[in-house]
Amino acid sequence: MFWGNGRMHKPMIGVVPLYDETKESYWMLPGYMKGIEEAGGIPVMLPLSTDKETILTLAETFDGFLFTGGHDVNPNLYGEQAEPVCGRPCEERDLMEAILFERAVALDKPIFGICRGIQLFNALLGGTLYQDLPSQFESEKQILHKQMPPYGQPVHMVTIEKDSPLFTILKEESIPVNSYHHQGIKALAEPLACAATAEDGLIEAVTMPGKRFVLAVQWHPEFIFQKEEKNMKLFKAFVVSCQHGEV
Ligand code: MN
Repeated sequence: MFWGNGRMHKPMIGVVPLYDETKESYWMLPGYMKGIEEAGGIPVMLPLSTDKETILTLAETFDGFLFTGGHDVNPNLYGEQAEPVCGRPCEERDLMEAILFERAVALDKPIFGICRGIQLFNALLGGTLYQDLPSQFESEKQILHKQMPPYGQPVHMVTIEKDSPLFTILKEESIPVNSYHHQGIKALAEPLACAATAEDGLIEAVTMPGKRFVLAVQWHPEFIFQKEEKNMKLFKAFVVSCQHGEV
């Protein structure tokens, strides 16, 4: 262990908070925190703030950001009206994460998105989403994307794009993943590149070429990394990228 610019070398990673409006509660799943901790980072749950100055300060302060799962993204972010099949949005999260993501990308800070994260990045960068896969996504191959518990169990395969940074991280052509989502990417945003697809053709991972580390996955590594070590590699690659960003 060594000391860099006056503090320990472990990167501090801002984790976007989960919000439960029925309990009026900010909360967190241990897997997001433990994945970062076991990879050598220090996870810190951020405040759910919509104050721009606060969010810009957070973007400057932390070494990287984890955008967690949660509410459906408001379809007005990608120019659509919410259909009845769309879940209730969280206005505070949409607002906060839009500002945080834009600033973190501009600062070229490492960013890892999970589930809602991949959908949010795609919407913010000009792509669109299926508001509800079972009723809107047509494919010859039927795949269950919303599994029942336990969520640490893989339920479908994803094929990794060979020229993708995700392949460099995993060194696998395909991996089994869990799946707990009813939305997904429809039109991929132009700044993003597909990094993995499910057997029905749905995009399950993206990266942002030209950036140090922007990776988002549609599955839930936070529920499965203890069982499937390949998913630990995602947290490791993210934390290492946050580490090397230090001056
Ligand atoms: Mn899936």
